[in-house]
Amino acid sequence: MRGIAASPGIAIGKIFIINEEKLEISQDKIAEERVIAELDILQGAIEKTKQEIKSLKEQTGKRLGPEQAEIFAAHLMFLEDPEFIASIKSEIKKNKLRAEAAVARVADRFIQLLATVEDEYLLARQADIRDVGQRIIRIISGVGWKSLDFNDKMVIVAKELTPSDTARLNPEQVLALVTAEGSRTSHAVIIARSLGIPAVVGVGRELLAEVSNGSEVIVDGIDGLVLIEPSEERKAQYHSKIKSLAEEQQRVNSYQDKKAVTRDGEEIKVVGNIGNLTELEHILARGGEGIGLFRTEFLYLNREQPPSEEEQFSVYKLTAEKLKGKPLIIRTLDIGGDKELSFLNLPAEENPFLGYRAIRLCLERTDLFKVQLRAILKASFYGNIKVMYPMISSLEELRAANRVLENCRQELSAAGINYNPGLEIGVMIEIPAAVVIADLLAKEVDFFSIGTNDLIQYTLAVDRTNERVADLYTPYHPSVLRLIRQTIDAGHQAGIWVGMCGEAAGDELLLPFLLGSQLDEFSMSAVSILRIKELLARWTRKEAAVLAERVMELSSTDEVRAYLAKSLR
Ligand code: PEP
Ligand code: MG
Repeated sequence: MRGIAASPGIAIGKIFIINEEKLEISQDKIAEERVIAELDILQGAIEKTKQEIKSLKEQTGKRLGPEQAEIFAAHLMFLEDPEFIASIKSEIKKNKLRAEAAVARVADRFIQLLATVEDEYLLARQADIRDVGQRIIRIISGVGWKSLDFNDKMVIVAKELTPSDTARLNPEQVLALVTAEGSRTSHAVIIARSLGIPAVVGVGRELLAEVSNGSEVIVDGIDGLVLIEPSEERKAQYHSKIKSLAEEQQRVNSYQDKKAVTRDGEEIKVVGNIGNLTELEHILARGGEGIGLFRTEFLYLNREQPPSEEEQFSVYKLTAEKLKGKPLIIRTLDIGGDKELSFLNLPAEENPFLGYRAIRLCLERTDLFKVQLRAILKASFYGNIKVMYPMISSLEELRAANRVLENCRQELSAAGINYNPGLEIGVMIEIPAAVVIADLLAKEVDFFSIGTNDLIQYTLAVDRTNERVADLYTPYHPSVLRLIRQTIDAGHQAGIWVGMCGEAAGDELLLPFLLGSQLDEFSMSAVSILRIKELLARWTRKEAAVLAERVMELSSTDEVRAYLAKSLR
């Protein structure tokens, strides 16, 4: 059977099926006099549900890190959604349903509503709503959870895994995950990826008809395959695949304590991208030489008020201190558009990626911007901090941002507060317009960092979050490669250094091209660091430059990909 390869790796083992438990819900109408009592029951159950979810959030945070715990923050917000609660109450009052039936009906309605949206992220949220609904119903009807404990390590099979199921599983006992529904962005999958557990999702409804508890299965999370009751020959084949994957992993792991150097000994700056402090630990553990991109958005998300100067200052200072003098590039707030901030109350936009976001928003909301810049400036006194503006498309924006920064400097000086007067300022090059005027921008900044994630979407006119056009989203398009080259050349001509912090910086195939194009810094997620160090050790800049020249002559994405794949071998 085939599904979506959601978390890489291969596992062979026995199946444990998690069945969706059908909760019996009485649809009997209640008498008018019962309405108040049912509303009370509902209120009590909601409060209890909140407590349970809060403690799950805490547990998950401790076990897997703050990012994984965030999903439960979303569940809590859902429980506070006035529309959701009002709809349930109205079912009790108007339609005389029992509390549990009212919850089930409203949850179903919200799920149906989302089912019409063609957005992978929102589709994944259906599972969240189902999960919250089931939890309230269980509390009202006093039905507990079945135990999910088993002795051996098993392959978990389910129609879909809710966040609550996932939180109840002990990762030590899970060999792999297979689900009939689900997407790459569902909670279970995100956790599986972070724990290195192979997963295949979206296999289809046939899945549950074809498996039974205890049957043997091969889960291939690389190619998205599920092989039920495989032959001995197949098993042998896969055992040898597992062995070579493990060997490869071991070779890659041996780069943990090695520096990032080319074959002829040139040290290359390989640094990390982080969105929180847990990720910083992962970067440091892999020998990252600093942070090339600190996405500060997480400080602002899921809260009622923006983070104060004090709070931001202490996070930035702590991060810089943990880096012990290694560079830390703090990117100013890149929010708006698809990443919503509830406290800003921004209206929805038709084209969020082309809309009111990042530097555009900060230059208008200088109240928010100044708080962040003052915090960064203050922290710059305590470590090797640089600042970087996102989504710059013109000189005016850069100059306007610098004016706000200058204003903050003056305020701090007047108040006798310390900061680093030589704080380096950079811009992200992630809009084609910025590439075209890179020579002009380069004269007014200390460094560039190429953000390929957005640069690709704006260059190719392909929404980076739209699965439908995912095939068109590629760093190997000759236009993207030319823009990268142009940026590096313009930076170097003006005497500044150029890094890259988009996902392409950790792309195995692209590595020799970037090295040969004289990129100065590679900033990537923790998972890519060791592999990139291993690949760097195979090349010299000179050889890579020859390859890069050759790649620049190719005229299509397919040719580029094929050529780079051949060079990797
Ligand atoms: C980018 O656009 O390449 C980038 C690194 O920023 P983000 O992914 O946060 O938009
Ligand atoms: Mg970006």
